Amino acid sequence: MKTLLVFSALLVAVCAQEVFVGDQVLRITPRDEEQASLVMSLEDQEHLQLDIWRSPHRSDLIIDVHVPQGSLQSFKVFLEHNDIQYSVMIEDLQVMIDNEKAEQEQMTMMERTTSSFNYGNYHTLDEIYSWMDSLTVEYPSLVQKQQIGTSFEGRPLYILKFSTGGYRRPAIWIDSGIHAREWVSPASAIWMAKKITTDYGREPYITSLLSKMDIYMQITVNPDGYVYTYTKNRMWRKTRSTNYGTQCVGVDPNRNFDAGFGGPGTSNNPCMETYHGPYPNSEPEVAAIVNFVQSHGNIKSFITVHSYSQLLMIPYGYKCVYPADYQELMEIASYAVNSLASLYGTQYRIGSICEAIYQASGGSIDWSYDQGIKYSFAFELRDTGRYGFLLPASQILPTAQETWLAMKIVMEYVSNYS
Ligand SMILES: [Zn+2]
Repeated sequence: MKTLLVFSALLVAVCAQEVFVGDQVLRITPRDEEQASLVMSLEDQEHLQLDIWRSPHRSDLIIDVHVPQGSLQSFKVFLEHNDIQYSVMIEDLQVMIDNEKAEQEQMTMMERTTSSFNYGNYHTLDEIYSWMDSLTVEYPSLVQKQQIGTSFEGRPLYILKFSTGGYRRPAIWIDSGIHAREWVSPASAIWMAKKITTDYGREPYITSLLSKMDIYMQITVNPDGYVYTYTKNRMWRKTRSTNYGTQCVGVDPNRNFDAGFGGPGTSNNPCMETYHGPYPNSEPEVAAIVNFVQSHGNIKSFITVHSYSQLLMIPYGYKCVYPADYQELMEIASYAVNSLASLYGTQYRIGSICEAIYQASGGSIDWSYDQGIKYSFAFELRDTGRYGFLLPASQILPTAQETWLAMKIVMEYVSNYS
């Protein structure tokens, strides 16, 4: 009996969800670069366990940081001692996570009674995978599911192919969920995939596009990480691969592409959120995309969807040099964000990754652009920090709908000019 008790206690400890009781998310507004880098330098103090949600951008130095309860006092003393301004953005992270969960459970109950998929809710990986199957069954002549690889933990990596025929037609690639905790990204993509199927044959924009091009969507690029945000740690960002010589798990897949690999804006410390991994494409999730895109050979546009910050970005991130197509891409981006704003007034900023946020290496759109995929874009969806990664489910539909307007501008342009 005693051993059983010990065993079950151990089991509880192993299976328990990471809790964030008393943790806060602070919004820091440094006066100058010096204060900003002082704060950012604390990220390396591993005992503080700081989790930077938003690094300083070029245009503003705002830093959002998740501070564990145990480090709060010393961190706040540090800020005050250095005369650095801050405010508390999230008072208690666990309360917010609990609210998200309660909202979700309530909606899931509704779902059972309507027996239809709720696009205004967040979903588990299993739910998403079975929704994919339903979509292919409902629209067999338009949607196919393909497996392009296997995740580190052995999960299939699926893409949806929207096609009306033809052999290796020019195509648009859209991916979401590369960073696990950015839930609104796959949630919006699910709605968009459904939108393609319902609009096809009714709306000229998509009907004509699909008469000459294909669309590929990878809804959950990082399924291991996504499952982990449901079962263990809502704030997980990276993959779930094991790293040699350390207990720290995971690689930042959006630092793992072969574009300025290991350069500025990445970390070589496996315990950090921006760890680039041992070598380019070390993550099976990244290698799957690279292999697919390369072997396809006719991808004209590569669009990746993240959150949060409300940005539409173009290459480059690994270097602060404008790409050759800067003017054209910025013009498209500008039309796209104007269209996006027309629905609910949501304001987006545009720019190269380097100018819009900061230098960041090993990212997917830099890689795709350098592969010759001219129309490479990265979205950062809602919001600007009120909820950050914990965007309430009530905002999924408006986010998806407005983003679709921007996506349409890009896709129509690509179908006309590529
Ligand atoms: Zn991201």
